[in-house]
Amino acid sequence: MTTANLIRPTRHGNAGICRGCWDQMHVPIPIRGVLALPFRAFGITRSKMNPNICTICERSFRTVKKQRHVTVDATILFADIRGFTALSERIDPVSLSEIVSVFQDRCAQAIWAHDGIVNKQMGDGLMAIFNFPIVSKDHAAAAVEAALDLQRLCKAALDDLRSMTGGPQGQAPGVGVGIHTGDVEIGEFSSFRSDFTAIGGAVNLAARLESRAAAGEILVSAETAARVPHLMDGAGERLLALKGFEQPVQVRVLAGT
Ligand SMILES: [Zn+2]
Repeated sequence: MTTANLIRPTRHGNAGICRGCWDQMHVPIPIRGVLALPFRAFGITRSKMNPNICTICERSFRTVKKQRHVTVDATILFADIRGFTALSERIDPVSLSEIVSVFQDRCAQAIWAHDGIVNKQMGDGLMAIFNFPIVSKDHAAAAVEAALDLQRLCKAALDDLRSMTGGPQGQAPGVGVGIHTGDVEIGEFSSFRSDFTAIGGAVNLAARLESRAAAGEILVSAETAARVPHLMDGAGERLLALKGFEQPVQVRVLAGT
């Protein structure tokens, strides 16, 4: 295999280079194989947000974008374990941490498979971004497909842990998901952390939708749904009064299987 073959990016899971640096700067940064070794010596490795991006994308936002923040059309996904507080009062900390790690692993697997990044992990919850730094033309579809996958993967894994959460008759914990698409500000907004995140009204709406999703549900905003009509077959409709929104918000409801 030639060097050119090694560094040429492909749509999915390319052999060698950081997809974020390629999409944002057209700079090939090797993150796998022997070409990555000299970079590793300088602390440039694969990001924990997504193994197809590197720690330059993750921690050097200003260097990459030459700005404090940028406005990006993106899809934001929030997921969390429903009823986690009640669960934490019932079961021991070791079992609880196993449930959290199963949840985080399966979610990451689904999100990475659709080119999203796990931007924040908050114990029993997470926030993912689609369309930055890996550019994805169909990011709304990618996020909805990732949500369907993560519901399926989490359900199978959490059902297997049912004995931990209350015996065979006990109810396995479920996951709620909220998704919204719109302009977000992406940049470094914290003075003590140098990795990027997304902020703005679109992020808040995705978080609010997630907070209203029951176990197994995916709440999709009208803006996201309008971009993915082919994924809305059989989706329910719900009108939600949300904190911070004057008018009730119409959402589509997908039930993960
Ligand atoms: Zn990178």
